[in-house]
Amino acid sequence: MPTYEYACMDCKRQFELWQKMGTSGAVCPWCNSSNTAKLMSLCSSTSVRDGASGDSGHFGGT
Ligand SMILES: [Zn+2]
Repeated sequence: MPTYEYACMDCKRQFELWQKMGTSGAVCPWCNSSNTAKLMSLCSSTSVRDGASGDSGHFGGT
């Protein structure tokens, strides 16, 4: 399960949660506030590489 990092907007703390993919919304374990924001996950660095489009160098010419 992927770990997501959240920041609480109320108490300004950060915490981690294990959530399924696509799950949105988290409750702060410190103040029980749902006013949280998801941060960038540090583990899964799926950075978008530029020029990744058209990797199939196969043109059906002729
Ligand atoms: Zn909080």
